[in-house]
Amino acid sequence: MTAVVPAHGFATRQIHAGVAPDPSHGSAVTPIHLTAGFAFDDFDAARDRFGDDPDGYVYSRYGNPTVAALERKVADLESGASAIAVGSGQAAVSVALLGLLRAGDRVLSSTEVYEGSRGLLAEDFARFGIGVDFVTEPHDPEAWRRAIRPETRVLFGETVSNPRNEVLDIPAIAAVAHAAGLPLVVDSTLTTPYLLRPLELGADVVVHSASKFLSGHGAALGGVLVHAATLADRVAETRALASRLGPSLSPVNAFLLQQGIETLSLRMDRHTSTARTIAEWLAARSEVSGVDSAALPSHPRHELARRLLPRGTGSVFSFTLAGGEPAARAVLDAVRLFTRMSHLGDTRSLILHPATTSHARRTPDELLAAGIAPGTLRLSVGLEDPADLLADLERAFAALPVERREPARHPHLAHVRQLTHAALALT
Ligand SMILES: *Cc1c(COP(=O)(O)O)cnc(C)c1O
Repeated sequence: MTAVVPAHGFATRQIHAGVAPDPSHGSAVTPIHLTAGFAFDDFDAARDRFGDDPDGYVYSRYGNPTVAALERKVADLESGASAIAVGSGQAAVSVALLGLLRAGDRVLSSTEVYEGSRGLLAEDFARFGIGVDFVTEPHDPEAWRRAIRPETRVLFGETVSNPRNEVLDIPAIAAVAHAAGLPLVVDSTLTTPYLLRPLELGADVVVHSASKFLSGHGAALGGVLVHAATLADRVAETRALASRLGPSLSPVNAFLLQQGIETLSLRMDRHTSTARTIAEWLAARSEVSGVDSAALPSHPRHELARRLLPRGTGSVFSFTLAGGEPAARAVLDAVRLFTRMSHLGDTRSLILHPATTSHARRTPDELLAAGIAPGTLRLSVGLEDPADLLADLERAFAALPVERREPARHPHLAHVRQLTHAALALT
């Protein structure tokens, strides 16, 4: 493995960290070791691989050279002690949390988490005797402190949430967790190590859906969890748990994820700047009653985002049309360049109506509390020419009936906005 001097910058490390030319043929790009098992030279070699030979491989569910190169790269970029790559982001969340929990324990989670993680905590973990408590004001460190119970074993939140762009105050929440002797696990899927490194800010484990910006091209599923040095003693056990639960990452996907990460900084800069351009354009439109992008000064977490995310807040955010669901339907059906899809972090720009898709299982009250109105649309801004994306939205907005473009707001929607912003009010 190339010895990477820590002084090297992010762009250098995203290319070089964790990889070295293949010793057999000199392949500069990490080869895809597409094999289930690894042959043993002889009796002793077989015994050693099951024993103390840390560099030897046995079977790809326990470890694989292509996957290991990806793990070294992500651990380096996240300033972590060690990374474990798994088959999806949900597998990374599951393994990261189950590695810290047993029956009778409770997770303390932000309400502003990915729907799959919310279901996992609220429904599936319950069957294994692991409870969950939700913090409805995740921006308030006191709310986290008050919600810690004697059975609480781990705190869980997301760096920037989807779709409302709630921003987790990682240094403050990590301080609350550590004062209670608990670890903080942070999902950084929307931010990636280029925009934010949770472990440097005090978190103990960072998890990623690598299917999103790390892969970057919308082709491969994967997940990664990275432990900080504070939890280095848990890594071997967590790795054993991952291999027994079995959500292994395919070496082919590990290869695709490494290819994506080599251009991460370039893509994130472009994603972020185009997303800000689009958010500003939307905020100036009379058809739009609100834009939930932490990149905008009007967002209640804008100052926190500026402090924690100086390079920007990424490219996933939502906006709400004053015309409610009929307006959202008209715009969603009229776009031609944006792809109607529930994925995010793709080269392609994506659009989604959360209330009837990703968040359809939530009650109307829960939707309201999550800042999702009938007219809310979620964007994941891609890497196309900004002018083309704006032209597509302009054309889609032209599909709105004229009366919905009046600045006067529907009284109910004004109420919705008031409530959601009250729920987000700065302390
Ligand atoms: C997509 C996503 C996940 C789940 O990742 P998969 O790779 O789809 O399993 C977890 N957390 C966040 C924030 C996500 O966006």
